[in-house]
Amino acid sequence: MICDVAGRMGLLEILSWARPHDSSVERAFCREYLDRIPGMTADAFGNRMITIGANPRVLWSCHVDTVAARGGHQDVYIDEHGIARLLNGKSGMSLGADDGAGIWIMLNMIEAARPGLYVFHRGEEQGCLGSDWIRRNTPELLEDLGAAIAFDREGFGDVITHQMARRTCSDAFATSLAAALNRLDRGFRYAPDDTGVFTDTNEYAGIIPECTNLSVGYHGQHGPRETLDVAHCEKLLAALLRFDATSLVIERDPSVEEDDCWGWRGHRDDQAAFADAIAEYPTVAARMLAQCGMNIDDFQMAVWAEESGDDHYYRPLAVS
Ligand SMILES: [Zn+2]
Repeated sequence: MICDVAGRMGLLEILSWARPHDSSVERAFCREYLDRIPGMTADAFGNRMITIGANPRVLWSCHVDTVAARGGHQDVYIDEHGIARLLNGKSGMSLGADDGAGIWIMLNMIEAARPGLYVFHRGEEQGCLGSDWIRRNTPELLEDLGAAIAFDREGFGDVITHQMARRTCSDAFATSLAAALNRLDRGFRYAPDDTGVFTDTNEYAGIIPECTNLSVGYHGQHGPRETLDVAHCEKLLAALLRFDATSLVIERDPSVEEDDCWGWRGHRDDQAAFADAIAEYPTVAARMLAQCGMNIDDFQMAVWAEESGDDHYYRPLAVS
C-alpha cells in the first residue's frame, strides 16, 4: 500500500481530512488512499471496491464522505484517555470518525489480505447515494454474498438488526457475529440491537441475506464534539484480522420482508400515527434523533421555532 495507514498515526491522518461529498478534498482523498491500492476499482458513481479471495462471503462497507460543511485539513489529536478529538472544533466541523474509523479498519484489513468484497461508498451522508446507485445499477455485484457488514455505527457493542424500523438481518446472524467478535476479544460486549437508523448496507437488504452495521467506537457524530475511542477501534481491527466469516449463520431470505417492525410503518406520511409511535417509544425516538446528529439544544430550538410560528426553521436530518 502506498499510503501507510497502519497504527494510530494512520488513523489520525485519515481523520485530518474533512471530506464533504463530491468535494475536491473527497476526490483527492480517494485518489491518495484508495486508488493507489493494486486491484482497487471504481464504478461510474465513484464508489471504490476491491475483492480479496475467491467468492467472498462478506461485503465490508464504509463511506468516504463526512458531514463537514467545508473540505480541507483539520487538526486532530488523541487525548490522555485515548479518545480522538478535533482540535479547535467549531460548528460545521466534525471529527469524521464517521466514517474515517470504518475506512481505517477496511484499509488495514485489505493490507492484511483478509477475504471480502470491500466497498468504499460515496455520498452516504447525503442519503446513501453510492449504495443506492449500486443497488439500482450493478446489483449483480451483490449476488452470491451472504452478508454485508458496515463499520458505521456509534458506540461499542451494537450489531444492528433493523434499519429504518425494518429488519435487515436475522437475530441468528447478529448473535453469531456478536459471539464471534466477543470470543476474539474478551473485553467486547457486542450484542444484537434493533435501533439502527440507516447506512449503506440498508440499501442491500432486499438482495443480500444478512445486512448489518457494527459499532466502531465513535460518539456524537455529525458535530464538532464527535469523539472516537481509538482503543476500541484498534481492538475491533485486531479481532477482524483473526475473524472467520464461516462461523456466521446466514439464514434470512432477502426477498421476504419480515413483518415485525414498528406499528407506523404503513403510515410513514401520517404524522398522527408517527406521533403516536413516538409517544409509545420515546426512548427509541430520542436515540434515533441523537443518532441523526440532533442534540437537546437543537430539539428545543426547533420546538421553540415551531411554537413561535417561525416556519423558516428547518434543519434536515443527516443520516448516520
Ligand atoms: Zn456514517
